Amino acid sequence: TPPRPQSLLAGLDPEQRAAAERPGGPLLIVAGPGTGKTRTLTHRIAHLITEGTVTAAECLAITFTRRAAAELRERLASLLGEQAAGMTVTTFHGLGAQILREHYERAGLTELFRIADDTHRTAAATEVTGSEREGRRLLAQRDGDGGDDDAMAAAIDAYERRLREDDLVDFRDLLVLPVRLLEADEELARSYRRRWRWISVDEYQDIDETQYALLRLLTEPEGNITAIGDPDQAIYGFRGADVGFFLRFTHDFPTATTVRLIRNYRSTPTIVEAATRVIAPASLVPERELRAVGQVETPARIGMHVAADERAEASFVARSIDRLLGGTSWHSLDSGRVSDEGDGGLSFGDICVLYRTDAQSEAIMSAFNTAGVPFQKRSHDRLLSRPAVRMVVDELAHQTEAPLTERVRAATRQLCERHERDEKLVTDLRTAGELVLPLAGEHGWDLSGFLSALALGAEVDALDPRADRVALLTLHAAKGLEYPVVFLVGCEAGLLPFSFTGAGDVTEAAEAEERRLFFVGVTRAQQRLYLSRARRRTRRGSAVEPESSPFLASVPAELTMAVDEETATRKRPKDRQLRLM
Ligand code: ATP
Ligand code: MG
Repeated sequence: TPPRPQSLLAGLDPEQRAAAERPGGPLLIVAGPGTGKTRTLTHRIAHLITEGTVTAAECLAITFTRRAAAELRERLASLLGEQAAGMTVTTFHGLGAQILREHYERAGLTELFRIADDTHRTAAATEVTGSEREGRRLLAQRDGDGGDDDAMAAAIDAYERRLREDDLVDFRDLLVLPVRLLEADEELARSYRRRWRWISVDEYQDIDETQYALLRLLTEPEGNITAIGDPDQAIYGFRGADVGFFLRFTHDFPTATTVRLIRNYRSTPTIVEAATRVIAPASLVPERELRAVGQVETPARIGMHVAADERAEASFVARSIDRLLGGTSWHSLDSGRVSDEGDGGLSFGDICVLYRTDAQSEAIMSAFNTAGVPFQKRSHDRLLSRPAVRMVVDELAHQTEAPLTERVRAATRQLCERHERDEKLVTDLRTAGELVLPLAGEHGWDLSGFLSALALGAEVDALDPRADRVALLTLHAAKGLEYPVVFLVGCEAGLLPFSFTGAGDVTEAAEAEERRLFFVGVTRAQQRLYLSRARRRTRRGSAVEPESSPFLASVPAELTMAVDEETATRKRPKDRQLRLM
């Protein structure tokens, strides 16, 4: 039986409920981390659907990462059951790809258009500019704001035509082409506005100009648009996102209602207090307010650790995890003293390790492998960039008629037969076949839909929220997520704030964005937060001795507790010691 509308509102506080119950028109939900923005969004949509105000097919929900879209979909399915299936829940790029799939011919593409990978892009850019160096410059310009000099603009045009000759679009095209299509054809734009009468955008603070243009084409100024976000979590400015769009929402949609949420359900009072102090110098929200109401029973302090180098830091994390799960926590953060009290009840999947740069994950993974700590890492590699996957997909084009899953199987089989002698390749091909199959099975796409879905996302090891493994994530990838235990490693100048050359050359704007990123990291933690740094670290091949991150100075000392390696060894039971060596 479908849930009754009222029961969907029962799990919301009065402000969240007011937001969820708002009948229509533009709505802005502005609130800090852990205040239930995403929860309010899902309950609002579910409520509107069960109440009959809107059908699932008329709802479009947009987020920024595939992981976040998957989570939204999951939360909606648990609220709505079957009904949720008719909704479009996607990323901006996914939305663009869908519009292109529906109108490929107008963009000069065929039904089988594909998304260019880096090799295609580099080749096309090199060809039209005549040199690899100029080609790189072209791609950089294109991915940023585009060049304003005429020669560059002409080169970019030529690059686009070159991609089109091969029936390719790149990531930027996925947004730009739909914008052009809808701008040129008001009737088409209107048909999309009729189709998606309710649009919600989570993490609105990270929207960029092209995404914003697309959104404007899909909504009337008084339309049913819900924008949700936290300007203090704007972390994609370096990539062209502009928090200004968030700040001027009520100007762009003059009839908008604004709802503020101030109760944090996620983190302990200690973590909320530390986070509030951290963000204060860079906050974009006047009179920011955040009150911890969820994890009030856990008095844990924030664990601070200084390691000799990155290997020692990684082994500190591995040992701490072993302690936390073994119930023999040697540094009970609760009592503020070293103790044998266990923390109990935790498992690997409750823990995440956050870092600023992907390179830092090497040391962590190596320590985890040695210690036998199971982990999963989100990689930004796309499935389609794997040669074996590419081969399977190319082969698919030759298989017609049969259902997609059959075609994937047949393609894999034929390739394996053809390359029988190359054992490594055959193994890769089998893995590739297995990797792409679930994608097809799940959604039953047509071939072009399948190919673009494959190219779009499907990171090689996308995080599985149900796996009982420690999650390794960059701070950027951690947005929107939460974990009972968080280790934020590498709290050093040069990494936080990040700088290519070491400390000292970070602009004020960049430093503010880095501070917001640190704030995002701190606020992922529900119960326990560890901040660690290394005295010595190898960066780009040379050893550096970084200062402590200036952001650490914002964390009040009385909220923290030093945890060191010595205490780690002292209380260690023998059997575990072996496994950890
Ligand atoms: P972020 O800014 O990090 O994306 P958010 O504002 O989207 O955070 P949610 O992820 O929606 O926050 O919620 C944070 C946690 O608080 C979730 O575990 C959620 O289930 C819980 N929560 C939110 N509102 C309530 C509530 N009214 N009662 C109980 N738990 C709640
Ligand atoms: Mg959220």
